[in-house]
Amino acid sequence: MNNFEYKNPVKIIFGKGTIPSVKKEIPENAKILMTFGGGSIKKNGVYKQIKEALNGFDFFEFGGIEPNPHYETCMKAIELAKKENITFLLSVGGGSVLDATKFIAAGALYDGDPWDFLSQRYIVNVEKALPIGAVLTLPATGSEMNGNSVITKAATQEKMAFGSPEVMPQFSVLDPECVFSLPDRQVANGVVDAFVHVLEQYLTYPVNSPIQDRFAESILTTLIEEGPKVLADRNDYNAAANFMWSATMALNGLIATGVPQDWATHMIGHELTAFHGIDHGRTLAIVLPGMMNVKRENKKDKILQYGERIWGVSSGNDDEKINKAIEKTIGFFESLGVPTTLPEYDVPEKTIGKITTRFQERKSKLGEKADIDYEQVGEILKDRL
Ligand code: NAP
Ligand code: FE
Repeated sequence: MNNFEYKNPVKIIFGKGTIPSVKKEIPENAKILMTFGGGSIKKNGVYKQIKEALNGFDFFEFGGIEPNPHYETCMKAIELAKKENITFLLSVGGGSVLDATKFIAAGALYDGDPWDFLSQRYIVNVEKALPIGAVLTLPATGSEMNGNSVITKAATQEKMAFGSPEVMPQFSVLDPECVFSLPDRQVANGVVDAFVHVLEQYLTYPVNSPIQDRFAESILTTLIEEGPKVLADRNDYNAAANFMWSATMALNGLIATGVPQDWATHMIGHELTAFHGIDHGRTLAIVLPGMMNVKRENKKDKILQYGERIWGVSSGNDDEKINKAIEKTIGFFESLGVPTTLPEYDVPEKTIGKITTRFQERKSKLGEKADIDYEQVGEILKDRL
């Protein structure tokens, strides 16, 4: 096992009827800016619950944060936060609203252009940020219990990430009943996103980490069992709760302790969203099978372990077993209604050239061994034509 440091200070408040507890988590004298998305919280009653709970607080609202949140939108919220001297941000929504809120929290206390946090990720660090609380309405990203944020600059079609412990929420409220109003597509996207988060931290190379491996495998198995139940019956509370907690556990740092991490599937997936607006989870369902195929030598031992322990793949030679593990993974995504090839999303072959040019310009070397260059990114994407 590799050395590691691990600290996760996010307080989780989980369960039915927990949304009003935001009241006791936010300082009484706070000047709150509530951030939200396109209006789902007004339809499912979450907005009303928050307004009632925070009656009497000094309270501002910023709605209209889009999926794959835009830098341009966040800058308007930063302007508002500065103008009103906001002291606390309350994110109410899915990963997009929360990621945007993290950017706003850091940007509100930064003198320069906060895009620096993304464009110069390893040079410009977030030194301070406004405190954040979250009410999560969509299980998928794990953003509720981590310090990551992914923002899109619409003007240049760039989707990039930054991370800092400074933007980890102080608390996150997870009420599984929020799942009841999710459309099938968002449930399926969420299951795939959480599943791939686990694989980014698991399908690498062995470092003798049986605890982390078995934690990871338990999350994968739970998603395979519970995801279809949530799709079949949106009011199945226990399935919703298990799905929600799986998605949080998939990316709260626990299974990343002491093991290599990949994240190349995410980096390539972000480009597909940037150029074609494909939902985040869906981009991962496209890229991951190509990644497994092209990196089969690097990842051999862990793909074999994954195939055997998760899908019961035990016969054939190693290459046949790896092929079977890839087929099983594709089959799972497709069973959720998520297509896994580029043509199914009308992505033309010329997009691959645009993406590889970007990675070439950035001199990127992706993956757990930092050996995926732009040419290999092209190979991975061509595998999905
Ligand atoms: P999302 O973009 O936050 O939301 C997708 C859609 O679901 C929105 O249209 C939203 O509508 C709707 N929605 C949310 N909750 C709902 C509910 N309870 N009922 C009905 N509709 C609901 O989806 P997401 O998958 O959570 O977030 C995706 C973003 O997170 C991407 O930008 C991705 O790159 C990023 N991401 C971040 C991390 C991380 O660690 N921070 C990890 C992976 C991905 P409204 O707008 O109307 O609310
Ligand atoms: Fe993700």
